[in-house]
Amino acid sequence: MTVPDPYFPQHGDHRYGVAHYDLSLTCRLDGNRLDGRAQLQVVAHEPLTSLELDLGAFTVTGVSVDGRKARYRHRHHRLRVEMPVPVEAGGEARLSIGYRGSPKPMPGVLGDAGWEELDDGVIVAAQPYGAPSWFPCNDRPDDKATYAFAVSAPTGYTVVANGRLQETRRSANAVTWSYRQDEPMAPYLATVSIGRYAVQRLDATVPMTVLVPSDRHVELPASFRRQPEMLATFTDLFGPYPFSSYTVVVTADDLEIPLESQSVSTFGANYLVDEWSSERLVAHELAHQWYGNAVTAGGWDDIWLHEGFACYAEWLWSEASGRESAAEHARHHWDRLAALPQDLVLGDPGAADMFDDRVYKRGALLLHTLRRRVGEEAFRSVLRTWVERHRYGNAGTPELRALVAEIAADPAEDLFTDWLEKAALPALPA
Ligand SMILES: [Zn+2]
Repeated sequence: MTVPDPYFPQHGDHRYGVAHYDLSLTCRLDGNRLDGRAQLQVVAHEPLTSLELDLGAFTVTGVSVDGRKARYRHRHHRLRVEMPVPVEAGGEARLSIGYRGSPKPMPGVLGDAGWEELDDGVIVAAQPYGAPSWFPCNDRPDDKATYAFAVSAPTGYTVVANGRLQETRRSANAVTWSYRQDEPMAPYLATVSIGRYAVQRLDATVPMTVLVPSDRHVELPASFRRQPEMLATFTDLFGPYPFSSYTVVVTADDLEIPLESQSVSTFGANYLVDEWSSERLVAHELAHQWYGNAVTAGGWDDIWLHEGFACYAEWLWSEASGRESAAEHARHHWDRLAALPQDLVLGDPGAADMFDDRVYKRGALLLHTLRRRVGEEAFRSVLRTWVERHRYGNAGTPELRALVAEIAADPAEDLFTDWLEKAALPALPA
């Protein structure tokens, strides 16, 4: 059991894990109101007389544990629950938490994250600390659980959450959308989108849909239409797609950056252009389903395992689709990085710099250098075995280094040390 995450030590509680979240949410867009009931199946890792959850600025209306009323205290985004009966190590408890209020994003060193009101709808972009902006959770990347969502929204709106849609139920002026995410998921990858959308289905080997604003006629650009081809390329390189569906939500609003959630990605309308600058990000977010979502770093200091792999996947898609080769991208970005300050350590960039572009590009360059060093066959085996072995769980840099040592004739120890532990940019092999 690890200690609190060094980047966000105020989040999460390592004394227990959550096996399942059942979230029933009623959303009123007019006035931004959320009425929630969260049921959590928790497993104690050590004897518990109390536990702590992360929950934003809501009014908690009641907490029960295994049907008994529980005492609680909610402040500074932490909900401390006193167990009515102590739970022994390995024991389970079912928590039920009622809460309501006006959801707001969570503040932090990287700015606001989580619940985000749009002109006419909502998205949740929770990475890395925004999950408590909409439900009580054990907000750690290494505490994965299955999820069920029942989200009620006004008639005329479409709701997307993680996983597969189970059913929609109509009442007087609202529709309740039920989704299940059966593959374990970290809280930060949970999402909900509410908006007026039209659904476009793509012909792919897994159910693949793109939701576009329904108030305008949207012809999907090739950058989005080519996702079935990207899926085929990545399936070939990384192994089977790890989830049962993939949904891309394109909001009517422009968004600064796209974001991956588990089995869902969110883009702003500004990305609906037929340009490489957009297409590379469509590939990037899809690749995160393998690297970041199926296999998640155990701690945020290993963020390069998400962003380096997803960035390298952009270059692999470029290569596979007959454009610039990965080697050409590597040369171009190495030249650019060489002219930038060399004061970032890839293996521990710090919370404020975890999404610095240099993490993405240096991570991709590490992988390209590794590919050159161990050869094509061993590199491909590393990409696939990494997902096969760790999907639905967590793994960090030590596990990757061990995997390379296991698969390749050369464990490339010095390569990892130079790229991950030193601020100076290592040379790019010719
Ligand atoms: Zn990314």
